[in-house]
Amino acid sequence: MRLVFIGIPGSGKGTQAAMLSQKWGIPRITTGDILREAVEKNSPFGRRVKPILDTGLLVPDDLILQLMGKRLSEPDCASGYILDGYPRTIGQAEGFNAYLKEKALPLDFVLWIDLEDKEVIRRIVGRRQCRACGTVYHLEFQPPKKEGICDACGGKLIQRSDDGEETIKKRIEVYQMQTEPLERYYRDNGLLHRVDGLGTPKKVFQRICDLFKE
Ligand code: AMP
Repeated sequence: MRLVFIGIPGSGKGTQAAMLSQKWGIPRITTGDILREAVEKNSPFGRRVKPILDTGLLVPDDLILQLMGKRLSEPDCASGYILDGYPRTIGQAEGFNAYLKEKALPLDFVLWIDLEDKEVIRRIVGRRQCRACGTVYHLEFQPPKKEGICDACGGKLIQRSDDGEETIKKRIEVYQMQTEPLERYYRDNGLLHRVDGLGTPKKVFQRICDLFKE
């Protein structure tokens, strides 16, 4: 199974992608996490992309295509994957298509988590992520058992540097301009399935599982 999640930042696609990855036992590949890890390591690539992430803009397509071409060719991706945050532009979707065609692999499913902007801001402002293992929490909707500490690994919870209100507004604007056209693109390809993103992670996950029962 090769599946792509699309959705506005804060729609819950990361949480849902992680739940589905666990259920199916295939990797979840999150471009945002790969990029943040590079920034954290202060690698030359990380230093190049840091100012882009901090302003909420998108990393250029050629860099992302190169990065993902390499990542998707690793052995853990052989029996499928769940993509979270890629492709994010029409250029990336076309590059990804060309990659799949070259490998003679189909894309099976595109899941669009649909959520309104005003709900998104509320969600992102309360979001916290474990610095060590990446598990995501929410101060209001999914708090950790112990404040500031990850339930899964005991790591420290931090707020992402691009989760401030101004950067969020920019990220939403960027989504509407550059990523929203993918809904149409994948609908025209017959791959798009919409899921209502409102409600608890559990409720949304149930809706997703129901789609695969149909
Ligand atoms: P995310 O965690 O998916 O919201 O991604 C955080 C940031 O990483 C975005 O605001 C972009 O700057 C960058 N990013 C993540 N995925 C991509 C992508 N596919 N193309 C370009 N930039 C990306």
